[in-house]
Amino acid sequence: MDGPPVNDCCSICHGHFNIACQANCSHWFCGDCIMLVWHHGSVLQPCKCPLCRREITLLVPSEASLRERNDPDIAEVLGKIERYNHLFGGNTSGLIQRMQDLPFLLRRLLREIMDPQRSLPLVIRARVYIAMVLSAIYIISPVDIIPEGILGIVGLLDDLLIALICFLHVAAIYRSVLYFRHGEITSICMYKSFTTYKIRGVVIVIDEIVKIAGQPLRRKGEANDGQCLETFSRLNNVSAGLDADRNDW
Ligand SMILES: [Zn+2]
Ligand SMILES: [Zn+2]
Repeated sequence: MDGPPVNDCCSICHGHFNIACQANCSHWFCGDCIMLVWHHGSVLQPCKCPLCRREITLLVPSEASLRERNDPDIAEVLGKIERYNHLFGGNTSGLIQRMQDLPFLLRRLLREIMDPQRSLPLVIRARVYIAMVLSAIYIISPVDIIPEGILGIVGLLDDLLIALICFLHVAAIYRSVLYFRHGEITSICMYKSFTTYKIRGVVIVIDEIVKIAGQPLRRKGEANDGQCLETFSRLNNVSAGLDADRNDW
């Protein structure tokens, strides 16, 4: 089942989960609550889990909340979560963090592989299987870097190491899937809207320049003191407005 435990409640608002999200430390929160916690501190830094104090670098909304995306309120919170993931989910975290994230990622991945309704991309599925099969072959095969036959229990070290590398590799593959699903889509939208605003801004500026340049040209030769005074007072108004804005800051 994808969602928080049935009898659990959000540890921030102590209520029922609203747009439940699971953090990379495996703890569940309401989407809005965890975003409030983040805004409480520096928005340039990822927030820390209120329960285990680990840095939250990925927030995965439950399937149930994703299905209700048509609701504008839910879509707004999901958008905030995607932006958060986009900001902090793409960084390659250190080995310790990657090891700490293993239970969260492997548990989710296993659930997703088992569930026929989920659509884990075929390429990802293949990469996961290849990594698992190769490491299984190494562990089962009698050819070892440290042979068990001679060194006994110490001989298992290399097998454990291979298994760990395999799990880390598989978890990294799956993490990139989650990042793409819950962080990358908005980034494209953000980029699009940012570009649109930039283009719109440039168009407005060009339009204004054309208007300002066109006015004296059209009225060339018929300008009088009255018009000059009018333009002067308009410019004065603009600068007064700018000053007022500056004072507001
Ligand atoms: Zn809550
Ligand atoms: Zn936690």
